[in-house]
Amino acid sequence: MLQDIDNQIYNLIQKESKRQIEGIELIASENYVSKAVLEAMGSILTNKYSEGYSGKRYYRGNEYIDQIEDIAIERAKELFKVDHVNVQPYSGSPANFAVHLAFLNPGDKTMGMALDAGGHLTHGFKVSVSGKYFDSVSYGVDENGYINYDEVRKLALDHKPKLIWAGFSAYSRIIDWKEFRKIADEVNAILVADIAHVAGLIVAGEYPSPVPYADIVTTTTHKTLRGPRGAMIMCRKPYAEAIDKAVFPGSQGGPHNHTTAAIAVALKEAGTEEFKQYSKQVVLNAKKLSEELIKKGYYIVSGGTDNHLMLVDTIKSVKLSGKEVSNALEKANITLNKNTVPNDSRKPWDPSGVRIGTPAITSRGMKESDMEKIAYFINTVLENIENNSLIEKIKGEVKDFTKRFPVPGIN
Ligand SMILES: *Cc1c(COP(=O)(O)O)cnc(C)c1O
Repeated sequence: MLQDIDNQIYNLIQKESKRQIEGIELIASENYVSKAVLEAMGSILTNKYSEGYSGKRYYRGNEYIDQIEDIAIERAKELFKVDHVNVQPYSGSPANFAVHLAFLNPGDKTMGMALDAGGHLTHGFKVSVSGKYFDSVSYGVDENGYINYDEVRKLALDHKPKLIWAGFSAYSRIIDWKEFRKIADEVNAILVADIAHVAGLIVAGEYPSPVPYADIVTTTTHKTLRGPRGAMIMCRKPYAEAIDKAVFPGSQGGPHNHTTAAIAVALKEAGTEEFKQYSKQVVLNAKKLSEELIKKGYYIVSGGTDNHLMLVDTIKSVKLSGKEVSNALEKANITLNKNTVPNDSRKPWDPSGVRIGTPAITSRGMKESDMEKIAYFINTVLENIENNSLIEKIKGEVKDFTKRFPVPGIN
């Protein structure tokens, strides 16, 4: 047993487990996986090398691995209604790199949403390989926090990118996939939708699917989809070969078979009525939490949310930076991340806001009435940021509050 062989690591896992139970998890990209997903992830499948694809492996002994990968692929095809799926990317960033590798040569143009507007590093941010090896152009959001499709179109016409990325890590509104399709067609670009944050909502019908419009769809599997840390690339038939080659041998070696199995399990769970209800509640909770914060005088970028997350401009709301807010809330067992707000004048390591998401707390069974309580906890801490004894008291209340909500996979 781990406890006997490596007590140090065992103890740290126990502590982390306790932290996850006793805190309110508001990081929008996090979630709690089920026991079934954990079991697949912690299995002996990690022992096996399987470079290549089902039926075409470089090593022998892949009879069962082939079946596992085929099941994961079939489930993804059915859930997302796509032609082709690659389940091997190690995570979201390598998946997005593989897409760049599949269609671009170094120096070619790629276009995505700016990081400070809610885009992801891998959509062309300067310090990422996507912005270093490729010539990247980025679009932002308007002063109300919405994507301005005329601006996107104008940039696309000016720069003629080969790839256009639509998708986000911190945008609380609906993306008009159809409009992106039109823009991509006007400049003859490949349209890539990155649904890392909303894949679970899409499966449940709570967010529009880009599948009818995008050529390529990438997603992580560990956010709203509630699977293991991993990713998938889905695409139309004509792009399948280029995508598969870019993943292996283009940018990866052997697939993580234990992860593939856990993805298959998560996809099975995502097809249930229970998951549909869960996803619906994620959105209801986000809307309720944003309303409660607005009532207390907080400034939410774009005035609310249509999905599972919101951005709070903490400078405008309480004259505290995102870093100060996230540090203070951590003292009360409330975790969230500092985040830039659109057109942020501050730097990413000390930005003007925080991002708040409801996927994890909803997995614990929290409902709208619990959002009132969470808004109260947040506001009390931030109004009393210098008052350590009061923050300590709120921490106690947070611990009591979380006892009512078991963590899937833990208790
Ligand atoms: C989280 C995320 C990724 C990257 O996923 P990692 O697994 O952290 O590499 C890519 N794109 C978007 C939009 C994301 O939100």
